[in-house]
Amino acid sequence: MSLAQRLAEVDSKIDAKLAALGRKDPVVRIVVTKNHPVDLALELYELGVRDFGENRDQEAGPKAALFAQDGARNDANWHFVGQLQSNKAKRVVQYATTIHSVDRASLLDALIAATAANETEIQVFLQVNLTDDPNRGGVNPDQLLAMASQVASAPGLHLLGVMAVGGLEVDPRVEFERVAALSQKLQREHPSASKISAGMSGDYEIALEYGATHLRIGTAITGNRNY
Ligand SMILES: *Cc1c(COP(=O)(O)O)cnc(C)c1O
Repeated sequence: MSLAQRLAEVDSKIDAKLAALGRKDPVVRIVVTKNHPVDLALELYELGVRDFGENRDQEAGPKAALFAQDGARNDANWHFVGQLQSNKAKRVVQYATTIHSVDRASLLDALIAATAANETEIQVFLQVNLTDDPNRGGVNPDQLLAMASQVASAPGLHLLGVMAVGGLEVDPRVEFERVAALSQKLQREHPSASKISAGMSGDYEIALEYGATHLRIGTAITGNRNY
């Protein structure tokens, strides 16, 4: 199958699922282009893709710069989905529209400082840790509301909602249910933070059943990554 065919197939599955669920709210399908050359992202752009996901500044920065070079692709949105070192915050806020992986207070502080210094604004998701393993990325659910109020009081940050990365040996439905519950809890204090970033190549249709609004899809569209 060609890239265009894989993209069309994923999009038609998303549309069919949304129709079956009776959902009419907007869903953002992000194509995760990490570990692929920028040419693939350019090809996707030609096919109409405007939302791209990356997980390393060293790779995302040059891709975003090349896109912006001649001013022709200013409508592309770069979503940072990977663990972000605080010392990269200053760079990432210059090209990313959305950071999905705000997972600790030190990163939040760095983003607040970086957006203030740049006089720029960025959208953020708070990444939640659904496991008991503190080494897995993500905010402990107990900390979620405290982090959310910190985001809400930062002029450069807009809180979209919660994000989660599913575990490998876990039933995705159990995790999506927990994410949906945390989203409800967040919305009781921050009604506009209603978005849910969840669902990848293997489980995006299930994620839609649990209210995902931002799907991060890599290999199902791009094919295998070159590491
Ligand atoms: C790589 C990545 C994805 C995409 O994964 P696929 O299984 O290829 O769809 C989604 N989210 C995050 C955080 C990733 O790092």
